[in-house]
Amino acid sequence: MDDDFRSDLRARFAEHHPGKPPRGRAERLAWQRAWCATAVDEGLAAPSWPREYGGMDLSFPHQVIYAEEAARARIPGVPGTGVGIAGPTIIRHGTEEQKQRFLRPMLRADVIWAQGYSEPEAGSDLPSLRTTARRDGDRYVVNGQKVWSSSAEIADILFSLVRTGAPDSGRDGITYLLIDAHAPGVTVRPLRDLTGDSGFCEIFFDGVEVPVENRIGEEDRGWGIARTSLGHERAAGALTQARFYDRIVNELIELAQQCGRADDPVVRQRLAGLAAKQRIMSHNAARMIATIARDGEPGPGSSTSRLFNTLFEQELHELAVDLQGPTGVLDRRDPHAIQKGRWTWGFLRTRASTIGAGTSEIQRNTIAERVLGLPHDPAA
Ligand SMILES: Cc1cc2nc3c(=O)[nH]c(=O)nc-3n(C[C@H](O)[C@H](O)[C@H](O)COP(=O)(O)OP(=O)(O)OC[C@H]3O[C@@H](n4cnc5c(N)ncnc54)[C@H](O)[C@@H]3O)c2cc1C
Repeated sequence: MDDDFRSDLRARFAEHHPGKPPRGRAERLAWQRAWCATAVDEGLAAPSWPREYGGMDLSFPHQVIYAEEAARARIPGVPGTGVGIAGPTIIRHGTEEQKQRFLRPMLRADVIWAQGYSEPEAGSDLPSLRTTARRDGDRYVVNGQKVWSSSAEIADILFSLVRTGAPDSGRDGITYLLIDAHAPGVTVRPLRDLTGDSGFCEIFFDGVEVPVENRIGEEDRGWGIARTSLGHERAAGALTQARFYDRIVNELIELAQQCGRADDPVVRQRLAGLAAKQRIMSHNAARMIATIARDGEPGPGSSTSRLFNTLFEQELHELAVDLQGPTGVLDRRDPHAIQKGRWTWGFLRTRASTIGAGTSEIQRNTIAERVLGLPHDPAA
């Protein structure tokens, strides 16, 4: 039965596959959006989501097969950060009206979502956030600043945490709001990262009006909801990522051969270590999906997976750059760069992996306190 499911899925991915990604940024986004719409219409999107919201409602073993086949077929992902983070949060905490209104357009990428949590003075210590939302009749008026918001330059909705309580209300005065990124008073400015790309943005809210029906959950109760979000952010796509790295480890072995380093015993040992870790990634991801299927949430165990995967990504790209010797410093602008500088780009890009979705220090704190049950660090 699993074999039938796999071969059927493989055939349907092949039938509807949108082909190779185009080069330009705008063309690539249009290509991704077209695929997302087709995937929902053909019942090929969101393996774990309920069918009524555009998903496939697959059993756990079939979700694993889906991840394997999606990686094999190289189907495009959904642009923005909504599907992995805001979607599961709305499924768990949203009203039926919100689920009907937001989920399917999010999956189809008709509407693109970005996360607005971090602020210049509130990253690891997110409960100290200062962006305010003042209730005025049937709307909130939002003022403040967010930063590091991935994909915000293409977003239509910003799922955000705002302060509705007193300035010192901490976790007890935070509300979860969905803010129209095109509303008057919203300014989105891209920020350049180490790779030269602009993967994230800063956002300014100046008297932005948000209807009350865009609030997820109760006023001042957003922190508990954000925890669902943060758990899912750390878990998001872990299985797809593990399958993706299955392919990348093989490509790294080819790179070692291409660079004449495949017989070096130290290189072989490092490659074997990465291949073993890729398998651990898969098992961690499967364990997390099983937890989500059982409890509805990935829980603090998602920090284990996130920490492991991000350190793995960095180790893999460090080896890729080492293998190339001096050529490893050339990026995609240089005609002598190996494989158009993709490994160098990955090396630079993955420096940020152990910061985004909570730094590795914060993941270690979470694992210590909430997984292992160790006492809270009074210095933190
Ligand atoms: C690629 C990328 C994408 C991102 N995307 C988004 C996004 O889409 N939306 C969004 O809202 N945010 C996003 N972020 C922001 C990210 O969540 C924050 O950068 C992160 O939470 C850290 O916050 P900070 O940068 O303010 O650093 P700080 O919190 O100022 O931390 C500085 C240093 O102090 C350490 N530290 C802080 N507190 C402790 C503690 N209690 N114990 C031990 N060490 C500690 C940290 O580990 C770090 O090394 C993204 C970041 C990156 C790099």
